[in-house]
Amino acid sequence: MSRGPRRSSVASDWIRRARDVMPGGVSSPVRAFGAVGMEPLFAARGEGARVFDEAGRGYLDYVLSWGPLILGHAAPPVVEAVARAARDGMSFGACQTREVELAERVAAWVPGVEMVRFVNSGTEATMSAVRLARAATGRDLILKFEGCYHGHADPFLIVAGSGVATLSLPDSPGVPAATSGLTLAVPYNDLEAVDAVFAEHGSRLAAVIVEPVAGNAGLIPPREGFLEGLRERCDREGTLLIFDEVMTGFRVARGGAQERYGVGADLVTLGKVLGAGLPVAAYAGRGELMRRVAPEGDVYQAGTLSGNPLGMAAGIAQLDELERTDPFADLERRAATLVDGILTAASARGLPACGTAVGSMWGVYFREGPVFDFEGARRADTDLFARYYRACFERGVFFAPSAFEAGFLSTAHTDEDIARTLEVVGEALDEAQAEARGEAPDEMLDAAPEGAG
Ligand code: PMP
Repeated sequence: MSRGPRRSSVASDWIRRARDVMPGGVSSPVRAFGAVGMEPLFAARGEGARVFDEAGRGYLDYVLSWGPLILGHAAPPVVEAVARAARDGMSFGACQTREVELAERVAAWVPGVEMVRFVNSGTEATMSAVRLARAATGRDLILKFEGCYHGHADPFLIVAGSGVATLSLPDSPGVPAATSGLTLAVPYNDLEAVDAVFAEHGSRLAAVIVEPVAGNAGLIPPREGFLEGLRERCDREGTLLIFDEVMTGFRVARGGAQERYGVGADLVTLGKVLGAGLPVAAYAGRGELMRRVAPEGDVYQAGTLSGNPLGMAAGIAQLDELERTDPFADLERRAATLVDGILTAASARGLPACGTAVGSMWGVYFREGPVFDFEGARRADTDLFARYYRACFERGVFFAPSAFEAGFLSTAHTDEDIARTLEVVGEALDEAQAEARGEAPDEMLDAAPEGAG
């Protein structure tokens, strides 16, 4: 068996064709697998906890489309609802009862939410929430946290300035300095740094936007008092608190992080689980704020495909299934088993590792813990991660192809799937260590069972 990732010639051909017609061969950068030195996965189909590539090889999937698939791939109630909706017409650009039904569910489940505006991506949701916050406060500045991702709109593609309270710089060519200069960024979980920003700019701060559990730098839970501290400071200065719950919504608890931590936000952004794998997102909050949105109010925001019938049908079906089965405690238990198992496997091999699960989001860093912020996350061993990653993938376990992404779990992952994953993790860590020592992994790969699928 050859060393390195196996790819069928069919897949290689698609990769080549993709690169000819799409930048990097992908529709979104992380799919390129660059951080782990591999070729991209071309997914042909998914079923439950597994995704299958073009060659028919199955992988236990902990990416789950980066979070939306809390019921696993092709969950029958969702598929049936979408198929039914599609037969009635793909899109109308007119009102649909399904929008009302999904909005009612969001208002019932998510604390503090009275009204909802549907959009098509998390990026649109955060961008629009910031616009609304700026309009409502009559202020321009926003504060975000390093390592939190809020989509790719200009105000968020920034790097922190050199001092705690200095304005930020563009993190991508094409982002005007005039835009990045309106965003401040400080370390996650650091209330002192937040205080420094409030001291200098408090009266000009429209909003603080935060991932209440940071899932775009690995997984970093909020420290005790962090979210409460943000709430207090925002209240004091008349700044709005935006919880970006695109990832945490319907995941860390039924009602998201607000429910889990008992801290209320002024505006919440949702996505991922909300659309069950279709392009659905939303921003939401109390009526008094949301009524500022056009056409009821003067803050403009629109979308040709917003509230799309297929997405609404998928979201309703997924939330109804979650309502019926209430899997949250069970998901959390299994996510914790997975993380504990990975940490135990690492420690048995003398490898430093730390990690945690929050609801059905989970993450592991190869470094001593705990990790409180992005700087800490960045000190994890990414070489070990890449080796371990490739060895897991070869054995049929698909984790997020970056050391700085949260993992997910679905109701379709069984205890046996997790046990199998932990076997693979042990073998992969052995292989990663052997590789780091310069030993060829071929014999080990040959001895390994076929993919978990
Ligand atoms: N906010 C958070 C917390 C996210 O995790 C993401 C996407 N991973 C986004 C916003 C952007 O969502 P989208 O990719 O749908 O634009």
